[in-house]
Amino acid sequence: MNCERRISLFWELSSITIIPTEMKNFPSLTLTAFLFASMIQAGAHTVADNGITSLEENRRPLERVLLQIPDIGGFVTLKCDLHMHTVFSDGLVWPTTRVQEAWFEGLDAICITDHIEYQPHKKDIPTNHNRSYEIARGSAKMGNILLVKGSELTRDTPPGHFNAIFIGDASDYLEEKGSLELDKKAIEKAAAQDAFIFWNHPGWKASSIEGSYEWIPFVDELKKAGNLHGIEVINGFRFHRKALDWALENDLTVMGSSDVHNSIDYDYDMQKGVHRSMTLVFAKDRSAEGIREALDQRRTVAWSTKLLAGSEKWVRALYEGSVTVGKAYSTDKRGTSYAEITNTSDFYFELQRMDPDQEDWPENISLNPQTSRVLKFKADPKTKSVSYKVTNAYIGGDRNLVVEISN
Ligand code: ZN
Repeated sequence: MNCERRISLFWELSSITIIPTEMKNFPSLTLTAFLFASMIQAGAHTVADNGITSLEENRRPLERVLLQIPDIGGFVTLKCDLHMHTVFSDGLVWPTTRVQEAWFEGLDAICITDHIEYQPHKKDIPTNHNRSYEIARGSAKMGNILLVKGSELTRDTPPGHFNAIFIGDASDYLEEKGSLELDKKAIEKAAAQDAFIFWNHPGWKASSIEGSYEWIPFVDELKKAGNLHGIEVINGFRFHRKALDWALENDLTVMGSSDVHNSIDYDYDMQKGVHRSMTLVFAKDRSAEGIREALDQRRTVAWSTKLLAGSEKWVRALYEGSVTVGKAYSTDKRGTSYAEITNTSDFYFELQRMDPDQEDWPENISLNPQTSRVLKFKADPKTKSVSYKVTNAYIGGDRNLVVEISN
């Protein structure tokens, strides 16, 4: 089977269910049972007349994960990874693979941001800055993955790398570098296309290049000129805490992304409940335009499995959309009450009591994804609520979300 055919089958197979005509009038319960049974049987190997035994049972089922992330504030929460690479720069996978990975993992949107100025595979893959987007577009449409067009402007550090997304023709971009003036020109090219521009991994090479991890005059000027719109505070496996403060102080959009170069499976062990780093976007609707409007309005939170980072308003809304504390369902003779604390989302929340004297309440509460726990406490009528620090939810480089739990 040629490669293109295999790729299109990937989507076709995921949506087809064949019901034999004689089953059409069966009561719905019987039909459901039949479909369930045939799904199981579909996996069993069959010996065909031509001497080939089908081993389709070994193929990974075409099922995508449903990420449980609450919609908040009247918006739909879109799971977006807007920074990644393919063989068209220094990545190791073909563009359609990026779409398939996103589909399996339950993402809504991706943006392939191949480097403009860095293409180590160019002896094998010709330079064409628009090509990764063009190749991925068909399978994104078939899989209902929103595909945003982008590029990574790869300047020397400092100032470093910038992603331009929602771009026009990427072949229009400047490859020449060597001065801050050229760096500025490169970004102005993107701005002229009305791109959304964000500063990538500001702390990258922080230990090897002095002064690289600072709010440098270059980015300050970009911001003042209206040519900087966001900062990547989570990049792959790093949380750039200072960058979160810069984003919040300068009204820039908080971004999180994988910046993946390998296959996602190679870098992230999803079997262990790990998700790629990404941006949660609170959009008016599930569309590319919806994402752009939300990014412009800074309605985002960066997420990387156990870590959330963003402005207090949106991080709190995600917590409140995920965690509920029920009324005490019983109280024993000693006055100890029992209630349920429930996390319906795929987030983790680590809660730490702030007041060391309130010993009638648990010191730490760990909430794993989609679980409920018993909350054991002594209800003191004088204590209306107890404050907990959410140690894995950041609303500043050194600031955590604080929540109240009441009895
Ligand atoms: Zn990158």
